[in-house]
Amino acid sequence: MAKKGEARVIIHLQCTECKRRNYTTTKNRRNTPDRLELKKYCPWDRKHTLHREVKVK
Ligand SMILES: [Zn+2]
Repeated sequence: MAKKGEARVIIHLQCTECKRRNYTTTKNRRNTPDRLELKKYCPWDRKHTLHREVKVK
């Protein structure tokens, strides 16, 4: 598990249209303190949609 104070954290990318979590990635929270938003292909919507960061629990 992630050590306390570690900069790199694992996140899910959730589709904003169907709310499914299609991607898992990591980000550096020092460089990217804000919520990540990326245009990614959603296999459920079968098109590119906006994917937003959600925390992995
Ligand atoms: Zn979707």
